[in-house]
Amino acid sequence: MHSPHQKTVLVTGGAGFLGSHLCDRLLRDGAKVISLDNFQTGSRLNHRQQAANPDFRLIEADVADPLPDLEVDEIYHLACPASPVHYQESPIATLRTNLLGAMNVLELAARAGATVLLASTSEVYGDPLVHPQPEDYFGNVNPFGERACYDEGKRAAEALFYAHAEEKGADIRIARIFNTYGPRMQPDDGRVVSNFVVEALLDRPLTVHGDGSQTRSFCYVDDLVDGLVRLMASDVRTPVNLGNPGEFSVAELADMVVAMTGSHSALAHLPLPADDPRRRRPDIAKAERLLGWTPAVPLAAGLASTIAYFREAVLDPASDDRPSHLLPME
Ligand code: NAD
Ligand code: UDP
Repeated sequence: MHSPHQKTVLVTGGAGFLGSHLCDRLLRDGAKVISLDNFQTGSRLNHRQQAANPDFRLIEADVADPLPDLEVDEIYHLACPASPVHYQESPIATLRTNLLGAMNVLELAARAGATVLLASTSEVYGDPLVHPQPEDYFGNVNPFGERACYDEGKRAAEALFYAHAEEKGADIRIARIFNTYGPRMQPDDGRVVSNFVVEALLDRPLTVHGDGSQTRSFCYVDDLVDGLVRLMASDVRTPVNLGNPGEFSVAELADMVVAMTGSHSALAHLPLPADDPRRRRPDIAKAERLLGWTPAVPLAAGLASTIAYFREAVLDPASDDRPSHLLPME
């Protein structure tokens, strides 16, 4: 009797927040998993459990450099810093990762005959003039500003995926991911959920940008990973929004985090960064219709497990994850 074919799946950016959860899910589903990462924002600790699994392999490499040939059936292309703080550290490196990375991954997929999924972003809609955002909205993006390296980099990556599908018949998938949060975000990641939770746990002021009236839609990581796996398994070769349509202002999020942590933190208002989108909420009708996907975890439940994770990572003196710059102040 033949055993069923065991898929081999490459996850670029596998040591990052989303990538490490995706590796877990794929291993659980019975695949062989290769994580390729340069550890710019990812952590070896994210692969702590996977490292002992014989079906798991790590390649330390940069997607913007020529990639080795790999016999893989599927590629999830996630490699790219996602937090504004990190992607703005070196805009040139971010553009290299987005442009050359997408090119290299598409060429690897062609050599391997693999299906390839791009982790794109709601940032392709920029500061949207249409609300909520459907996939056929072209966006309102500043090509010449602080966020351009990421926003335009991802838009160019989508264009590269489109071009490879049209010209070379590449079997592509494109997920436009909206703000996703959960355990294993780095405490110094810089995005709003991890910042607020860490600040609240340390009883430091929560750094609210602007008046906090700007909105985001927050998706729990398990829901998002399920959406990615469903998209890969589908035959949908056009962009699909993946995100939780619940919409919250940043000030509401701050209040929830303070209440749920039992923190004594006050709010500290900082200037609003340039080009910070005012509102964001996904129209997920396409994902619901074509993937049968709807997020299941409400913000309060997702925040509870995220807070529990950071309580251990940040406050437990024995934790390996505890970064020195976050040690509680005397
Ligand atoms: P993350 O920063 O935690 O993970 C990114 C991973 O990519 C890290 O492990 C990093 O070391 C690796 N990486 C970066 N540049 C690389 C390069 N040149 N070569 C190899 N590895 C590289 O971010 P995340 O939240 O896990 O995001 C994963 C992907 O999903 C990114 O492409 C991001 O743009 C996209 N995305 C995430 C969100 C979100 O809210 N989490 C939203 C929209 C899009
Ligand atoms: N933000 C904030 N305080 C922080 C980090 C972020 O008020 O410590 C705001 C940020 O300006 C934006 C929103 O929270 O309006 C979401 O920011 P994030 O960096 O998480 O993701 P973005 O959606 O902007 O890429």
